[in-house]
Amino acid sequence: MTTQTNTSHDEEQEQLILDMLDRFLEVEVKPHVHELEYHDTYPTEIVEKMKEMGLFGCIIDSEYGGLGLSTNTYSKIIERISAVWMSISGILNSHLIMATAIQRAGTEEQKQLYLPRLASGELRGGVGLTEADCGTDLQAIRTTAVKKGDKYVINGSKMWITNSMYGNCLALLVKTDTTAQPRHKGMSLFIAEKGKGYVVSKKLDKLGYRGIDTCALNFDDYEVPSSCLIGGVEGRGLQQVLSGLELGRINVASRGLGVAQAALDEAVVYAQTRKTFGKPICEHQAIQLKLGEMATRTQAARLLVRAAAVAYDRGERCDMEAGMAKYAATEAAFENAHEAMRIFGGYGYSKEYNIERLYRDSPLLVIGEGTNEMQRIIIAKQLIERNRI
Ligand SMILES: Cc1cc2nc3c(=O)[nH]c(=O)nc-3n(C[C@H](O)[C@H](O)[C@H](O)COP(=O)(O)OP(=O)(O)OC[C@H]3O[C@@H](n4cnc5c(N)ncnc54)[C@H](O)[C@@H]3O)c2cc1C
Repeated sequence: MTTQTNTSHDEEQEQLILDMLDRFLEVEVKPHVHELEYHDTYPTEIVEKMKEMGLFGCIIDSEYGGLGLSTNTYSKIIERISAVWMSISGILNSHLIMATAIQRAGTEEQKQLYLPRLASGELRGGVGLTEADCGTDLQAIRTTAVKKGDKYVINGSKMWITNSMYGNCLALLVKTDTTAQPRHKGMSLFIAEKGKGYVVSKKLDKLGYRGIDTCALNFDDYEVPSSCLIGGVEGRGLQQVLSGLELGRINVASRGLGVAQAALDEAVVYAQTRKTFGKPICEHQAIQLKLGEMATRTQAARLLVRAAAVAYDRGERCDMEAGMAKYAATEAAFENAHEAMRIFGGYGYSKEYNIERLYRDSPLLVIGEGTNEMQRIIIAKQLIERNRI
């Protein structure tokens, strides 16, 4: 009885939040996407509204000032946002990956100090892992942190770091021991707030995912207090990053689902309005085949994303499920954007239509948060591990 009551209360709460989000997207975001995206302008006013709505704390526990929503609800939020403008979801995703690292692995003092500020959006974070020479092979990073008294001095550089210009802090992966074997035993994760020696060297010009800041960074004798070492113990950084990857993959899968759905929705409308040879193109079988495949891909991706999110919320191991969801949903986004471009014919190529943006945004999804090549390898390894003979 209690469970049923809780479930219906959770469902009602989820519906209220999603309805509020839909209104926000319709009124505050949709009318501005084209202009902001075209000029690669950071959506400051939209971010301010997101703060007011509590979105920056949506999966942070309520005892630390967040909304404490489930991953399943969070995934639906990201899906809806991405269907309107994927860049906005990135402002939230990287921030919440950082917050989750502190929530899971931080000391109580770190949680009390940082989570309420992250939940309110006063602090807006990101994750600083990738370097110019390594993304997939993170154990090859070269940024170092050397302990000096009650501080660490950080030197090195990072590449492709989202939220690093307009945000104000990062979960920064470094080497605290460059000789450790295996290499991950020398890696640590720090809470790095902007300060002297934290230098944004360049905002990167990107194919898509515009509006949001993705930058190259240098750390030149940048100092952080020892109390910023997440968990308070050296050598756990890679583990802390990897334990957040399931959530990260559900995030990106949800983005993929939003983009796949948006491309499908646009195509369904256009195919009924555009006429060739005396009838709407949706009555030509070649277009019907495309729409049938796009819709099936989207729905299959949705079921995988929901299954991974529910497993994550239950605390079950879900690396394979999150990998499948990420792989399927982001490939669905990529393929649906390409197919929608074909359905739109020449107009798909025009910057006046959303299809052109979806086409440019979607390739990032197959690269970020573990490339889709790596996802298939992870899925296969898990498959063998779970079915040993
Ligand atoms: C717009 C954008 C935003 C980003 N934001 C962030 C961010 O906020 N923070 C951050 O830390 N990073 C960020 N990244 C970096 C991103 O996570 C990396 O680009 C990604 O992890 C891939 O790394 P790489 O580019 O170095 O490719 P590489 O690791 O060099 O891989 C190149 C190719 O080799 C394949 N490959 C590599 N190793 C293997 C293997 N063992 N087996 C089979 N195939 C393999 C890959 O699948 C890929 O096809 C961002 C990237 C972009 C483009």
